Amino acid sequence: MSPPSPRLDRLDALPLALARTDVRDVRSLFPEPALISLKGRRPDPLFVSILLHGNETVGFEVLKRLHAWMGRHLLPRSLLIFVGNVAAAEAGLRMSPGKPDYNRLWQGGTGPEFELAQSVLAEVRAAKPFAAIDLHNNTGANPLYSLIHNERAADRQLASLFTRTAMLTLTPPGMLSLAVSSLCPSVTAECGHAGVEANETRAFEFVLDVLHLDHWRGAPDRPLDVFETIGRMELDPAATISFAHGEAADIELPAALEKWNFFERPEGSTFARLPNGRSPLKVVTETGANVTDAVFRREGDRLVLTRDLSPAMLTTNEQAIRDDCLGYIMEKRSG
Ligand SMILES: [Zn+2]
Repeated sequence: MSPPSPRLDRLDALPLALARTDVRDVRSLFPEPALISLKGRRPDPLFVSILLHGNETVGFEVLKRLHAWMGRHLLPRSLLIFVGNVAAAEAGLRMSPGKPDYNRLWQGGTGPEFELAQSVLAEVRAAKPFAAIDLHNNTGANPLYSLIHNERAADRQLASLFTRTAMLTLTPPGMLSLAVSSLCPSVTAECGHAGVEANETRAFEFVLDVLHLDHWRGAPDRPLDVFETIGRMELDPAATISFAHGEAADIELPAALEKWNFFERPEGSTFARLPNGRSPLKVVTETGANVTDAVFRREGDRLVLTRDLSPAMLTTNEQAIRDDCLGYIMEKRSG
């Protein structure tokens, strides 16, 4: 009988071969999900999680850079690193077919992946973390942004060290940074497209800045725009989607849809066309309420915005739309 999988491996050093290992060979270093504990000058660790989504490689590249940096510097603060879905990373996929999404495990559930998540959370809690950063890429053309889960000054300061744009959200409820936000300031850092060196550099510098921070000052270090989520835009799974004008489909979206991310769209502007007359799009709040009518109204065969709103995380990647969602609708918070 094969041992239960995934199991959680524990390490107290980074593997020497990390520098010359491609992310697709991650299992030659980490055959199973792993928690790596590295001692630094301040004991309360920065918790960094990588590869919760296997094809979002930024975290693995950050780990390589940290490894190189540590060859020349002492860690100013301890690090606790979770290497997540290595099986999906080996396959170059967000998640393994038929297996749960590793960023939806953290609110509890049954099955080996959920048990793994609970073991990780117990160790993170015991380590009394200073801060937590979950590193992701995304598929749409978004600016770099962070997800925050409350408005504590420390969380805002943490987010401001990454980029100017933050999204305040409690969905999806099973995400890691939300679970850890009850323990310490916590963000998901959405680092743009995978494989882009500038994005990897920004993510690495963010981790380095937080490693060097010795206390929370109680205010953002740099300007921060906080967007609040109104809802998540979900498409009926049976719906057909088109990004070209005049094609037969249940919903027609503009090919340049992703350009709208984090820009305010005015009341009355067209969001989509509905060539077949019925709308497969709904907007659902964090608590599951359907607020579609508060966001969109029908004008002929068009779906238009009922007020000034900012979409985010819009993607034209049909697989991402079907695996996750079309995107989010947000409102910028004043002040
Ligand atoms: Zn992700």
